[in-house]
Amino acid sequence: MRILVVGGGGREHALCWALRRENPDADLYCAPGNPGTAALATNLPIAADDLDRIADAADMYGIALTIVGPEVPLARGLADRLRAEGKPVFGPSAAAARIESSKAFSKDVMRAAGVPTAASGTFTDLAQALAFVDRQAEPLVVKASGLAAGKGAVVCETRKEAARVARGMLEGSALGDAGREVVIEAFLEGEELSVLGITDGRDVVLLPASQDHKRLGEGDTGPNTGGMGAYAPVSIATPALLERVSRDVLGPTLEEMERRGARFAGVLYAGLMIGPDGAPSVVEFNCRLGDPETQVVLPLTDGGLTDCFERVATGRPPSPLAMPPARFAVTTVLASRGYPDAPEKGAAITIPDMPAGVIVFHAGTRLDEAGVLRAGGGRVLNVTGVAATFDEARARSGAGAAAIEFDGKIFRNDIGWREAARR
Ligand code: AMP
Repeated sequence: MRILVVGGGGREHALCWALRRENPDADLYCAPGNPGTAALATNLPIAADDLDRIADAADMYGIALTIVGPEVPLARGLADRLRAEGKPVFGPSAAAARIESSKAFSKDVMRAAGVPTAASGTFTDLAQALAFVDRQAEPLVVKASGLAAGKGAVVCETRKEAARVARGMLEGSALGDAGREVVIEAFLEGEELSVLGITDGRDVVLLPASQDHKRLGEGDTGPNTGGMGAYAPVSIATPALLERVSRDVLGPTLEEMERRGARFAGVLYAGLMIGPDGAPSVVEFNCRLGDPETQVVLPLTDGGLTDCFERVATGRPPSPLAMPPARFAVTTVLASRGYPDAPEKGAAITIPDMPAGVIVFHAGTRLDEAGVLRAGGGRVLNVTGVAATFDEARARSGAGAAAIEFDGKIFRNDIGWREAARR
């Protein structure tokens, strides 16, 4: 079997790791991949959003299954392109990917489907946005509607700040085209939870629920980032809660997408806020696996992913995954000093041998001409600890993160603190 993974971050390294484990003899390719995926797959020097060259590569290498990691190529129509050429691809069409690439669209789908989410308004006109802000309670959240690589949502303590952020986005300077339309919504109290479902647009196979840590600093302080660490499973995600999420969130959303002629096949990622009363509300939908959630969720599976992806890619319902009981995973992100605004680049990285139960996933690394592994900026590595208890998984992740060395390494030592506090 010839499989192509599109993307080059920690998520795609984790995908290659899981696919290789299930398919020791497969020809595995990754475009563009990274030094981590190079140990598991053949890296192809093609940018993930270079649709023409990805389609050519799928031809040239006789790829039987393409799995698309990031949102940008999906939003640009990579899955449509491959499907039109008769090539099986796991990932939604551009029309379905709008559930992530347009927050305005996503809010509209939720409203029509009766899915619980924060009250909001959508604006392209600054005067109307400012008038709306004036009528809202504080705090509130201002979001660029378009794709902004995790930088598009700003939690604002005051109306004054919200007005300033909305102005920055709508006047075009802050986030370019992504911010020419904004969603302004009520702040939701509670605890965040990521629920990822593999779906053909009707049936859903849930992956274990996970929790990301968006803020840069320990104790959830500082600016939002792409995510500083994650763990899975999460004890608040009881079977009853997941049942409720399937019934009240995923099911109605998929039905509404199909009704709009944009049936969603791929991973539907519901970013939820679980309120103090235990009720889930949707903070955002993503159209793909999360990063760093993938780096904890895939190590919890024991097989069945390739089949499941392949079935959905060929228009069939997803099949169940093998999920051993009593396995926990925690991942710690190592980033470069200056992240997320201006990360330093180029530091040489030393990764010592890791004990069993620790997996190092590469995110932003590169090999220089001399073969030295260097930080490429931003999120550099993920250290995933896997164990039979949460505490042990957490200890393994933390110890691995501490043992890796590079100048300017930053990481949070408190990943999973909410779960630890519950124990
Ligand atoms: P988004 O890009 O919509 O996922 O937002 C990024 C992050 O901002 C979320 O993961 C939350 O931490 C935070 N956030 C977004 N919307 C809200 C909201 N309505 N209430 C509270 N926090 C939010």
